[in-house]
Order: sequence, then structure tokens, then C-alpha cells
Amino acid sequence: MVRLRTRLSRSQNVLGRGLLELLSRDRLDDDVWDEIEETLITADVGVAPTRAMVEELRTRVKVLGTRTPEEVRGLLRDELLKQISPDLDRTLHTKSPAGRPAVLLIVGVNGTGKTTTTGKLARALVGDGNKVVLGAADTFRAAATDQLQTWGDRVGASVVRGPEGGDPASVAFDAVAKGIEDSADTVIIDTAGRLHTKTGLMDELGKVKRVIEKKAVVDEVLLVLDATTGQNGMRQAQVFAEAVNITGIALTKLDGTAKGGIVISVQRELGVPVKLVGLGEGPDDLAPFDPEVFVDALLG
Ligand code: GDP
Repeated sequence: MVRLRTRLSRSQNVLGRGLLELLSRDRLDDDVWDEIEETLITADVGVAPTRAMVEELRTRVKVLGTRTPEEVRGLLRDELLKQISPDLDRTLHTKSPAGRPAVLLIVGVNGTGKTTTTGKLARALVGDGNKVVLGAADTFRAAATDQLQTWGDRVGASVVRGPEGGDPASVAFDAVAKGIEDSADTVIIDTAGRLHTKTGLMDELGKVKRVIEKKAVVDEVLLVLDATTGQNGMRQAQVFAEAVNITGIALTKLDGTAKGGIVISVQRELGVPVKLVGLGEGPDDLAPFDPEVFVDALLG
């Protein structure tokens, strides 16, 4: 996996820079605080976390009186870090202690980057010496299965596929069975992201999970979320969170957005940690999420 700092600092993330400039102004009147609030909301931090942050910053700036650039940076760093909840457990469970493969379910709306994230993750795991089986449970689009097959061939993971339009749960079951048979370390199942009705989605994902649980345990349910879709993406994420018990978030396309603040709002609204970030379309453009590295990259 790539190092987060190098890639993010090359992106156009203006969140920190804009705020640093605003906070360094000689006079911090109400207009400047409004601008600070606007900057945070534009960066998709979300209204509630923005209010909390601005209030805290206002208080701390008042207490400090004079502010050096280092102090300003320190204040911002503290506040951003606090909002990112550095203490959340971000372990990605890709190994099972139980002598069977760990099973990861990848869920999310179509186009968010599920298949790409599955492929990149498989690549990182295979690179670390693990045996990986991929399940192409998005049986609704033939192209999705082919795309996963390409990733499997590329990274050295076997792919279990079903007939087009077949039962996703059956593919998931077969993938887990193959994982057990091959003594694989990890089985990653790429699901369909049709956002039809909430009940439909719940039924589908619920069935996939139940069927897997006949053979193994689902160790991780990763929700893939496209960072560029902002608050609209958040609403879709909520539907998934209600349908299935999400254990972590993979935030993709962070390379193409100045809205890094989504990390804060998504964790806050879903109560689930961001565990992985997607930083490009290439096979190595995936990194574990590290709050400190992320905040330093935001601040430039
Ligand atoms: P799925 O429908 O959810 O499986 O989405 P795909 O994996 O097919 O990805 C949709 C598009 O987003 C593809 O063109 C991917 O190359 C692209 N993509 C996925 N992850 C990233 C990322 O982290 N950064 C960028 N820039 N593009 C990404």
C-alpha cells in the first residue's frame, strides 16, 4: 500500500491551507469566523462538527491572545484530529484467528469503487504473502464480474464467479467454500450496489451474509464511499448502514477532491471508522487510514 502523506499532499486539498490563512488574519471578527465555518462546510466536514470545531477554536484563540503561525497550526491540528477520532479501532480484519479464511464483504453504491478497492486490497494482501479468493457476487452486471476477473488475474487471486443474473448469495457461498478448500487466508466478496429499495437491499445483503455464515463468519463489512459525492453519498451510505452492520469505511477517490472533510462527517454520522482510503485508479493506490498523517497532509 502507498504512503498516505505523499499522495495526499500532491492532491488539491485546500481545507487546511484555507483555514490556516484565515486564522492567521490580524483581526478575527465575526466575518472571518463565518468564512472559517464556510470553508469547513464546503470541505464537507458537516454542520455539527463544523460548529463544534469553530466554537472550540474561537475559545482557544481568545485564551491565547497573540497567535504565531505555529500556534495557529497547532490549534487547527488538535481540532481536526479530535474530530477525526484518532482513538477509533481501525484494524482491518483480514486474518482470522480461527483457522479459516477471514471473510470480507464489500458493499456500496455502484460506481463508488467497490471492484477497484477489492482488487487493490487483494493485491496488497497477496503482496504480503496471503492467499486470497475473490467472490464476484455482483451478478447483475456481467462487466462487473469480468472486471473482478481481470483484477484477480493481475494480482494473483482466484476468482469465483456465477452465471449472469445468478444468485449473489450462492456465489458468496461458493467463494467461501473455495477459500476453505484452498486454505486461503482471506476471501473478499464484491457485492452488487443496486440501490433499489431499502427492503430489497436489506433482503439481498442479509441473505448473502446468512448464507456465508453457514460456512464461516463475516469478519468485516466494508462500505465503499466515493469522497467526491459529498453529502449525497452520505445519504446513500446511511441506507447501507441501516441494511447491514458496517464495520469499516473505504473512502475512495480522495485524490480527486478538495473535500477531505468528508472523513469527519462520515465517521460521525455512521459511527464507523474510515479504515482505508483510495488515492487513485492504480493497483497500489490504496492506503490504510492514519488520522495523524491525514491531518498533516490536510494542513500541507
Ligand atoms: P464499483 O461499481 O463500485 O465496483 O466501482 P468501480 O470499482 O468499477 O470504480 C468506478 C470508477 O472509479 C472506475 O473508473 C475506477 O477506476 C474509479 N476509482 C475507483 N477508486 C478510485 C480512487 O481511489 N481514485 C480514483 N481517482 N478513481 C477511482
